[in-house]
Amino acid sequence: MGRLLIVSNRLPVTVHRKRGQLHFEPSAGGLATGLSSFYRSYNALWIGWPGIDKREGTANKDDIKEKLLAENCYPVFLSQKEVDEYYGKFCSATIWPLFHYFPQYASYTQSSWQAYEKANHTFCDAIVEVWEQGDTIWVHDFHLMLLPQMLRERLPDPTIGFFLHIPFPSIELFRLLPWRSQLLNGMLGADLIGFHTWEYAGHFLSSSRFLLGYDSWMGRITAGDRISKVDAFPMGIDYERFAGTAITSEVEKEVEKLDRSFKDRKVVLSVDRLDYSKGILRRLEAFGLFLERNPQYREKLTFVLVVVPSRTMVARYALLKRQIDELVGAINGKHGTIGWTPVWYMYRSIPFQTLVALYRRADVGLITPVRDGMNLVAKEYLASRVDGRGVLVLSETAGASKELGEALTINVNNDNDIVEALEHALEMPDAEQAERLRIMQRRLRRYNVQRWAEDFIHTLLDSSKLQEEMGVKPLGAQSRRKLIKCYHEAQRRLLLLDYDGTLVPFASRPSKAVPTREVLDLLSELGRQSHIDVVLTSGRDRDSLDGWFGELPISMIAEHGVWLKPRETRQWEMIEPLNADWKEEVRPILEMYADRTPGSFVEEKDFSLVWQYRRSDSRLGELRARELVAHLEGLTTNLDLQVLEGNKVVEVKNSGVNKGRAALRWLNANEYDFVLAIGDDWTDEDTFKSVPEECWSIKVGLSTTAARYNISSHNKALALLHELLQQGEQGH
Ligand code: UDP
Repeated sequence: MGRLLIVSNRLPVTVHRKRGQLHFEPSAGGLATGLSSFYRSYNALWIGWPGIDKREGTANKDDIKEKLLAENCYPVFLSQKEVDEYYGKFCSATIWPLFHYFPQYASYTQSSWQAYEKANHTFCDAIVEVWEQGDTIWVHDFHLMLLPQMLRERLPDPTIGFFLHIPFPSIELFRLLPWRSQLLNGMLGADLIGFHTWEYAGHFLSSSRFLLGYDSWMGRITAGDRISKVDAFPMGIDYERFAGTAITSEVEKEVEKLDRSFKDRKVVLSVDRLDYSKGILRRLEAFGLFLERNPQYREKLTFVLVVVPSRTMVARYALLKRQIDELVGAINGKHGTIGWTPVWYMYRSIPFQTLVALYRRADVGLITPVRDGMNLVAKEYLASRVDGRGVLVLSETAGASKELGEALTINVNNDNDIVEALEHALEMPDAEQAERLRIMQRRLRRYNVQRWAEDFIHTLLDSSKLQEEMGVKPLGAQSRRKLIKCYHEAQRRLLLLDYDGTLVPFASRPSKAVPTREVLDLLSELGRQSHIDVVLTSGRDRDSLDGWFGELPISMIAEHGVWLKPRETRQWEMIEPLNADWKEEVRPILEMYADRTPGSFVEEKDFSLVWQYRRSDSRLGELRARELVAHLEGLTTNLDLQVLEGNKVVEVKNSGVNKGRAALRWLNANEYDFVLAIGDDWTDEDTFKSVPEECWSIKVGLSTTAARYNISSHNKALALLHELLQQGEQGH
């Protein structure tokens, strides 16, 4: 592997100017601190905003670059105005509230979206400057969701991972975003897309499916001509840093100091950035209720509330700060006594050792966010409990709760839940505390931040094997050249070309998928070449095919092999005498399913009935499709019918009729030295099976097939046919 390029909004080093001098300081924040030890141990370069205005940055560009490069960092310069728009508005006032389930706080403004796009482009430019073949790119978080796709368009075959550190919301919220498709497509530029929990990954997959029509299987999502993997990697912490610091003499001294202040009182602790997603007000209210219900804890308990200032310029945060101040005042005013302040409130950033000392002294960690991507504080609290005591109370809506099953989990909207959990925590016997801690600590020690990052990167590097895993056999450049050469040299050629999904993309209604001028010209010119048979192998009815292609010098197969129209005779022939009486019995069943499945309908052809559900909710469609197939099973064996499940369709038709059998009409009649079959769905599999092994067969789409090769899209199929056309003209 070449270098690892880590990309995030902020660099782990912040540059600022103080009294005319540039200062370089470590940045705060979970990602910066979490990955700082990891990235130094790798051959890595961290790309991000150094926190200084672009003008300042550009004036001292070389100096800053040089110093940052010494720390394996590379700056992306943004002006304060750009940061205000892109970070202050789009990231903080659109994505953040919506993704944390506060849609009422989300604003949608075109100018901030444009700033977001522009900032992503600026990051893209910086990466393109430093990227070298073999480098692996790992993009972090919601500030840069467009970046993976932008990079893919600019770099030749890069390996890109993306990790979202906040929740990915349910589709019902995500769909509210005017730019939802752009964001999904942006992320899908990555080979691997990681989330903290499988729940978020599931939301992402369903949004991609419903909003973009991309199906997925086992976390592999086929997006146009690429496969991306989606998976959960719960971020860990630098466990040893907390556990190790917790036993240093400095921390011991700080704990003793705390003991002198708290005496033998129990301590409940919470630590959060100032944010409405953290549930600070609800927590305070529940604490007030706890004191009312538990007078025995008067003067025997202190709640240490640490709130770290954040986004202080934003009005909503300033308001929240005021509300917290007032509520703390109200609780202390109501319950406090001369010698006892129930809530010890600190609104500031606290030094690392003090933080660890507080973690160590706190009997209960009360971590109750309304919504949190992960919540590292919960894990840090557990890692610092080297004495085997302490109880964690945690919201079920924090990502961390998925891993920390031994914590006391609560629903943050339920005051009683919080009060009861607090009572339970304060009364929990030491042995039980130790046992719960032991289990959680073992897991956190094992899956620490280093393991998390390595796990992600290994999975990312393995992503090149995704296609193999899915049985995909891409038509590589060499095979493609060989195919063209064979075509060029052949004396007698046969092209078996499917229509829908192969020459044109699918449309919501079959009638909308009309052939383009390009396709008509292509077929007509191919058909005019010498020593060639072009056969359109379609599931469409005869009239549609005649209407579109009737005048072209090609042969046609209609209704998946029921009807054949050789170019020479220009007459439709039935493959064998067939009977369609069964339709009377089957039609009402299909119609019943159409009525029960909004968006679906029944299409009738001479010798088949098709239930189409492309426009339905795909999960409902798939469920109903399985029910329908089971329903039809008994009936069809008696009537000598076959039921086929295809690309968003269930088709019933006479058995023994298929495109492959129809293709034999040409294959058996002539000695071809070049045969190419192209198709995209299950009905084409019969064609692939019917052509001799040494022939060329290509499936359009990246999934398992009987064809020899896969290509990713109908555009690539057209490009190949255009090239054959050129070669054919040169050859004969
Ligand atoms: N933290 C900090 N300064 C403080 C107190 C805490 O930087 O004064 C750290 C804390 O140790 C944790 C991070 O801030 O690593 C908060 O991460 P978390 O995932 O809990 O919440 P986020 O702020 O990312 O929403």
